[in-house]
Amino acid sequence: MVPTMSHSVEVLIVGAGPIGLETAVACRQAGLSTLVVEAGSIGNTIHRWTPQTRWFSSNERIAIAGVPLLTLDQSKCTREQYLNYLAGVASQFSIPMACYQRVESIVREPDRFLIATTGLNEPMNISARFVVLATGGTDHPRRLQIPGEDLPHVEHRLREPIGYFGRRVLIIGGRNSAVEAALRLHHAGAQVAIAYRGREFPSERIKYWLYPELSSLIAQGRIAAHLARIPVAFTATHAVLASVNEPDSPHQQIPTDHVIVLIGFYQDKQIFENSGVELIGPAQSPVFDPVTMETNVPGLFVAGTAIAGTQSSSYKIFLENCHDHAARIVAKITGKPMASALAPRSVPPGNFEPET
Ligand SMILES: Cc1cc2nc3c(=O)[nH]c(=O)nc-3n(C[C@H](O)[C@H](O)[C@H](O)COP(=O)(O)OP(=O)(O)OC[C@H]3O[C@@H](n4cnc5c(N)ncnc54)[C@H](O)[C@@H]3O)c2cc1C
Repeated sequence: MVPTMSHSVEVLIVGAGPIGLETAVACRQAGLSTLVVEAGSIGNTIHRWTPQTRWFSSNERIAIAGVPLLTLDQSKCTREQYLNYLAGVASQFSIPMACYQRVESIVREPDRFLIATTGLNEPMNISARFVVLATGGTDHPRRLQIPGEDLPHVEHRLREPIGYFGRRVLIIGGRNSAVEAALRLHHAGAQVAIAYRGREFPSERIKYWLYPELSSLIAQGRIAAHLARIPVAFTATHAVLASVNEPDSPHQQIPTDHVIVLIGFYQDKQIFENSGVELIGPAQSPVFDPVTMETNVPGLFVAGTAIAGTQSSSYKIFLENCHDHAARIVAKITGKPMASALAPRSVPPGNFEPET
């Protein structure tokens, strides 16, 4: 029989992303015992980013729990700097954390929740008065669902760019991630092509420091652009593209060594469904009270980007506009508003786009 570890806390937080950690700090400061349970490593979502990716937001907007985030050259923080920052915050506030433990079920009893995990090493059973789901919304990359998508050279995340040196790479997508990937691969010595379904790139939605360089490289013929084209199949040697405007015209065959599909992410709904949280709308976002962050299940809260469900191409909820969730949750649990000096900083309402 596999041994299980048993724990009892007042507030169990699911997810050691920035908002899960910020909520844990707020709970500790309010005198609530807490445990953060994380399916992967600390900052798991950010850990999956391509090495040396920089945040789009400026540092003060992604800093958590009142801890300043400074970089050596004042530039926007990289993935690596931010992961170390999160570890520093967790250490500074002595946040109890169980990593590599995925929460599988949350059962509501009359006066508490019973939570069960599957772990890399051993599963856990946890009893908690309150549960916060800070599980994010980018669990899985979106797929095209076309033949050949599971071939080994077709990927859904960009690895370290230098690994593509001297290779022919086709990127599928036309938003920030795809454009940034095209530029980084070009500078890493890959032969880059990019295919996008629109007639032109959505320049107003692409970061102002990315788009001019892409359009210049395309104009110079150094990056190939296949616009108004959608992939319909991949083979070991080619990508097959169809015209959006003339679907019956002959398909284009693009010779390629690698394909990288970067068309967004979707949220894993299992934890919400398993715990009885109602999901609504096209994004299937959890039902919650925006004042307290409590879901339709009493005592079960949602925080961070998890509130938005699966966001479409136009993201509205980011880390930078979720900082007040922790204070709202703690206020509801304790029955008293947090002291303003302790309350996490809130970004002004309506400022939904990450600062550029
Ligand atoms: C390339 C890139 C650049 C970005 N730049 C910005 C930016 O500049 N500004 C910005 O605000 N946002 C940006 N984002 C989005 C950013 O990733 C999110 O805003 C941020 O991570 C949200 O934090 P969070 O705490 O809400 O969720 P997450 O960071 O997603 O954390 C959720 C955590 O929950 C864990 N988890 C999920 N399910 C379970 C489970 N069942 N059991 C245990 N643990 C679980 C996950 O492993 C994860 O660690 C960017 C994203 C990408 C991909």
